[in-house]
Amino acid sequence: MSLPFHISIVFLIFLIFRLILTVHSDNTTLHVQPGSSSFKIVLFADLHFGEDTWTDWGPRQDVNSIKVMSTVLDQEHPDFVVYLGDIVTANNIPIKNASLYWDQAISPTRDRGIPWSSVFGNHDDMYFEWPMEWFSSTGIPPLHCRVNVSRPPESEGVCSFKGTTRSELMMNELEMNKLSYSKFGPKDLWPSISNYVLKLSSANNPESVIAYMYFLDSGGGSYPEVISSAQAEWFNRTSQEINPNSRVPEIIFWHIPSQAYKEVAPRSDAHGNCIGSLFMEEVAAQEAEMGMMQLLEGRSSVKAVFVGHNHGLDWCCPYKKLWLCYARHSGYGGYGNWPRGARILEITQQPFSLKSWIRMQDGHVHSEVLLNS
Ligand SMILES: [Zn+2]
Repeated sequence: MSLPFHISIVFLIFLIFRLILTVHSDNTTLHVQPGSSSFKIVLFADLHFGEDTWTDWGPRQDVNSIKVMSTVLDQEHPDFVVYLGDIVTANNIPIKNASLYWDQAISPTRDRGIPWSSVFGNHDDMYFEWPMEWFSSTGIPPLHCRVNVSRPPESEGVCSFKGTTRSELMMNELEMNKLSYSKFGPKDLWPSISNYVLKLSSANNPESVIAYMYFLDSGGGSYPEVISSAQAEWFNRTSQEINPNSRVPEIIFWHIPSQAYKEVAPRSDAHGNCIGSLFMEEVAAQEAEMGMMQLLEGRSSVKAVFVGHNHGLDWCCPYKKLWLCYARHSGYGGYGNWPRGARILEITQQPFSLKSWIRMQDGHVHSEVLLNS
């Protein structure tokens, strides 16, 4: 039996509407694509958009960073992207709304219709740092601040030297982007904002959870570089509630390495059980350890932690029953001239496996590692 053409069209529109509503009503759950048994995630770390905005050099770096992301996305075709902090260098951005740069940084992912989420790094809401050379004989370069004569320039705020706050950045990302899975996180954890959990479900059975992905704000910028005891308590409560017997694997993302990274970091040319290609600097860890690592170590379901922050490190090292991993410096902003790339994660269901490798801008792949146990 075939339906009349106009009824088919109405039915089709209804289905599309339902699909849109389903997609937008629950952006805490990700699904493996039908017909696929795995889910691929690209980590973009330390993009540092908006660096030296008053020079020609700065904007050129952002164009280069877009090329890195575009190359990686076109070669890997991921299901999801994680922006792992230091998306912008706010201490170099003298305009009010750093979201303009933030928006540029997420554009390669959005343009390809790929969903993503983000966590904050220490540079994302930093105050503007006046360059010393601006006070030399060459003088202060034009800032292009729009002047509103009816109000004092301070209150107009088109030029702002106080940085765009974490909540403003998050609000702008969420308001502008239906593909964003980022969250504000519970208010009782503020000033720490990007604390949330996403569920990865199987394609044919939404009830079957493959993994939980936790995103945490490791601070820095406008407040100390730390994961607080309140955040640790939130993780403890949430994980006990949604995964009480640790049956479902858990994967953790934040920006600044915890102090445990110092314990496992290779100290000589022999890298032990660590897998990676960059061992170029000391671990720059959070200022204090307030219980989060102890909780993670105590849960057999936690498979790996992923951080950015150290541009000269890209290793994964085993630590107790889990893995501590760095992403890979993806942006042309930020210190260091090591070649740019991105860490890739591939989650496979039945049986669960977590595989990772690094894809470089020139296309080559290295440092493949299995992070199951
Ligand atoms: Zn950085």
